[in-house]
Amino acid sequence: MATKVTSNEREPDNLYPLLPSVNDLLLDPAFSSLVQSHSHNAVVHAARTVLFCLKQEIAEGQHTRASLQKRLALLDLAVSNELIKRANFSLRRVINATGVILHTNLGRAPLSTSALEHIVEIAQGYSNLELDLESGERSRRDVHVEQLLLRLLMTRAGITKDDVKNLRAAVFVNNCAAATFLGLNSLADGAEVVVSRGELVEIGGGFRIPEILAKSGARLREVGTTNRTRLSDYEKALSPDTALILRVHQSNFSMEGFTERPTLQELVLVGSRRGIPVFDDQGTGLVLPLDSLGIRPEPTFIDSFRLGSDLIAASGDKLLGGPQCGLLVGRNDLIERIRANPLFRTFRVDKLTYAALEATLMDYLHDRLDSIPIVNMLRLSQDEILRRCRQIVEALPSAALTVEVVPVESLIGGGTAPASRLPSAALALRHESLSLPALLLALRRLQPPVIARVTEDRLLLDLRTVEPSLDATLLSLLRGIAQSEDDPDLQKDEPRQFPLQACAEE
Ligand SMILES: *Cc1c(COP(=O)(O)O)cnc(C)c1O
Repeated sequence: MATKVTSNEREPDNLYPLLPSVNDLLLDPAFSSLVQSHSHNAVVHAARTVLFCLKQEIAEGQHTRASLQKRLALLDLAVSNELIKRANFSLRRVINATGVILHTNLGRAPLSTSALEHIVEIAQGYSNLELDLESGERSRRDVHVEQLLLRLLMTRAGITKDDVKNLRAAVFVNNCAAATFLGLNSLADGAEVVVSRGELVEIGGGFRIPEILAKSGARLREVGTTNRTRLSDYEKALSPDTALILRVHQSNFSMEGFTERPTLQELVLVGSRRGIPVFDDQGTGLVLPLDSLGIRPEPTFIDSFRLGSDLIAASGDKLLGGPQCGLLVGRNDLIERIRANPLFRTFRVDKLTYAALEATLMDYLHDRLDSIPIVNMLRLSQDEILRRCRQIVEALPSAALTVEVVPVESLIGGGTAPASRLPSAALALRHESLSLPALLLALRRLQPPVIARVTEDRLLLDLRTVEPSLDATLLSLLRGIAQSEDDPDLQKDEPRQFPLQACAEE
């Protein structure tokens, strides 16, 4: 019984009068309960937004009299949804089903329970952040983690001599990019830094080594070629003008074939012979050797320390599995110069980060590796992930959603271990009436949102990165999608935002 829509029916001027005023709405009994549970002001603002959106839809010719009346009948629901939306945080917990363990867009490493508890304890009240409790004197905030980090590095590197501890120090900044910049600026402003052409890389998020070097005031002295740099290339370039030899870990790409570069050990040897410090932008902060987890090995933070790099920069929230921060560890005299740099103060890390980092380092030192989430994810076997996938599939009704269990490969991600693939398992989803982009959108709109990955036109939920305790939640969310009535708004290939979101900026 489809009636043809005449242009007259869509005329805005004929439809605007159907819209109630905010005052009319507030008199409606359906709204009195809203006013009781929210404030009068909040309901007025939400109602204004909803009416504004409807007006806009009318102006765009989206409505007939019938469709508008249908929307008006649900006005209290729309206002209630708007109120809920306004009370929601923008930064929300999501389910990472991409299988990428360190996903920068999804906040990289989840924290261990002890890190979370320590954050809460420290954030709830005052703390001895910069107070020495023995002397009552002012102290530095990095004392809380400096010795812990040095102890961890020494233990793992198998160095027992206490004199090493006395010769090394550490400082902490907001991220590894800041650590690299600060190291260069403190030690090489106005002088030369020797770098291999194969290491003049972009790490991601616009962090490019040549640009950072230029901003730091250091002069770039490139040696070698993109694919091959020999030790002799470095040796020839060293001069009285050289302040540092910079080594950059090729953490987000791998080069294969006709390639060569000196080992870090060789560089450290040349550096010490010529009296020039070697600065290793190690990046990943990896403490556990990956081959111990059955994954293709990667240079570790520990290796760099053991081999005697004069200064090392690493990330806190990559393979260390801690909070976002940058760790700078090195020779005492170099760390002193970094501390003395006025810019050091501008990269100061907050107490919550120190709390999380301290607890994470303690987890390592006390061998509580199981409590570090990313270590667990790295260790999960394909069989275990397959088992969890099957459990979910068996509990799903056969409905609009078709779900298959497929073998896949997870990535470590976050600019680390580019060549490492972890055999995993995923749920491959298809929906009888939703296109792939529409199904992705439907998943992102769940509460909590589910972030999937698309490989070769298949929508995959890789359970390696989903905490097992969330399997039940994921199952009930998928049930909801499998049984939901068709939502016309989701069926377009180019999913658009809900109208309310599109015009919320009144
Ligand atoms: C990731 C990475 C960085 C940047 O670290 P952030 O903590 O994200 O700032 C710098 N250098 C290397 C080698 C990296 O891998």
